[in-house]
Amino acid sequence: MSGDRSGAPGSYPYRGTLGVPPELLDRLVALCRDGLPNEACGLVAGRGSEVLALYPLTNLAQSAERYGLDPLEQLDAYYEIVEAGLEPIGVYHSHPATPARPSAADIAEAYDPEAAYVIVSLAEREPTVRAFSIREGGVSELSLVIHPAADAAAGERKDG
Ligand SMILES: [Zn+2]
Repeated sequence: MSGDRSGAPGSYPYRGTLGVPPELLDRLVALCRDGLPNEACGLVAGRGSEVLALYPLTNLAQSAERYGLDPLEQLDAYYEIVEAGLEPIGVYHSHPATPARPSAADIAEAYDPEAAYVIVSLAEREPTVRAFSIREGGVSELSLVIHPAADAAAGERKDG
């Protein structure tokens, strides 16, 4: 019933670039640190190519080297995303001890060719965040642009 998505060109709105407000990036890193020693994972949602919300999910794999999204939580999160007027953008997960690029398992298990896969590496003192598109075993990096949300009305004050 749902097998006709092949060949549909980019139903997701981003095109090679994801915009992320800095406070959301900080929250993403904090969520990933909370998940240590295991990988943390969750969904990324927003509008257009702007990431505006994170939906942490249980890592069913309970592993430091892989992750598995809880399908029921995932479904709940999709409902929340739609109710919030946002669009699904992709999946995030952490790499506690390895670089921020997709592992062989990440590539093999990437189930959605249209999703952005955001990976947070906590291997170094400074966390690294990168985003990728994974299609049929091929990986291409998306550029991650860190900037305040464009439609944030609270951007008048400039702190430090
Ligand atoms: Zn991974």
